[in-house]
Amino acid sequence: VARNPGEVEFHQAVREVLESIGVVMGKHPEYAQAKIIERICEPERQVIFRVPWQDDQGRVQINRGFRVEFNSALGPYKGGLRFHPSVYQGIIKFLGFEQVFKNALTGLPIGGGKGGADFDPKGRSDQEIMSFCQSFMTELHRHLGEYTDVPAGDIGVGGREIGYLFGQYKRLTNRYESGVLTGKSGVFGGSHIRTEATGYGNTFFVKEMLSARGNSFDGKRTVVSGSGNVAIYTMQKVQELGGNVVACSDSEGYVLDENGIDVELVKQIKEQERGKLAEYAERRQAAKYVPNRQVWEIPCEVALPSATQNEITGKEAGTLVNNGCIAVGEGANMPTTPEGVRVFREAGVAFGPGKAANAGGVATSALEMQQNASRDSWSREFTEQRLEEIMVSVHDRCYATAEEYGMPGDYTAGANIAGFTRVADAMLALGLI
Ligand code: NDP
Repeated sequence: VARNPGEVEFHQAVREVLESIGVVMGKHPEYAQAKIIERICEPERQVIFRVPWQDDQGRVQINRGFRVEFNSALGPYKGGLRFHPSVYQGIIKFLGFEQVFKNALTGLPIGGGKGGADFDPKGRSDQEIMSFCQSFMTELHRHLGEYTDVPAGDIGVGGREIGYLFGQYKRLTNRYESGVLTGKSGVFGGSHIRTEATGYGNTFFVKEMLSARGNSFDGKRTVVSGSGNVAIYTMQKVQELGGNVVACSDSEGYVLDENGIDVELVKQIKEQERGKLAEYAERRQAAKYVPNRQVWEIPCEVALPSATQNEITGKEAGTLVNNGCIAVGEGANMPTTPEGVRVFREAGVAFGPGKAANAGGVATSALEMQQNASRDSWSREFTEQRLEEIMVSVHDRCYATAEEYGMPGDYTAGANIAGFTRVADAMLALGLI
């Protein structure tokens, strides 16, 4: 804490991992001897930079850009870019730290990193978004490379932004280096299913947790927070698997639609029109819009937080448990506070931590890198099948590790231990670097 003052989210993420790995350190004295914990908590490199750009009125604007290259023991740094006014070093470091273990859990050869800016894309024109992305990449490009550091999207960064970022990277380097960014559109080297991957992957993970308890999505009343990339494709897959999604939200409130959320309408409003979710209720008679409240007050059996960090505290977790919630899958990164996780654990709720449950996005990014490296393009069906196989293997790895360490059913411990040991073993093998 003294070494990283004020970085509260980073402290929270580190504490959560360290709490799980005491048992591992007991079994592996070589980790302590090589100071693996101290090394793993210190990013390999951090870059903070000025992003100057001009708005539509010709006014000069300045934002702060970040890239934290956390750990490359398993492969090039890999992790998204977040554009949101709340971004500061503590958020990027928590996300980068989580990413290291998440990427390890996928079993793929990718290290961990994260980046972004305190830029607020809300209400900005297309021209302004492009200006910002070009300026951001003008500095960031010197730190990237398909064998060095490969960003993707996150909050506020979707297909449009990745396109502008890649365009500027190509222009600056005079290299068509497809594998330097993932989440690209299909028209210039993107992979099928990457857009859907995090939401689909979380749904596959929860399907496995339910099935391990002899249960399924069939008819399950489900509530999703957010209405962005992760939330939209989570809702789509849950519906395909027979679940009944009755609510979703944005930063201003939630919609409740007892007939089942019309995902195409959410896509139209949020992806095409870039509007507010309140408009959903204006177009669907049966739906109700509730401003300034969180979806967790709605009774449900499955809860899929897919918006942002710390959206479920002990209080919301208690409400969910009392209302009969049996499974939670974290589509977002660290949406549940430690107190919330404790409430779920004590109530025996099947709880899929973000590191494991939302790993489908980065896993499909790694598949995109594979296709780019071999100048190939796989079919949608094949790519989705690979994603599902990876999510089943992530689930099984967490499940088996939790059993092995005497904590059956504790996916949080399983994910932390399995992710940590894979990275620690690679760090040991690489020597003191
Ligand atoms: P988007 O920007 O597409 O959507 C974010 C959604 O969450 C929006 O509905 C937004 O509301 C809402 N939201 C964002 N910040 C806040 C906030 N501070 N308070 C309340 N609501 C908020 O982002 P993604 O869907 O890509 O990301 C969502 C989560 O999933 C993040 O935690 C991200 O780190 C995580 N994640 C994303 C991956 C990906 O592949 N995209 C991969 C793995 C994890 P509004 O529209 O009003 O802004």
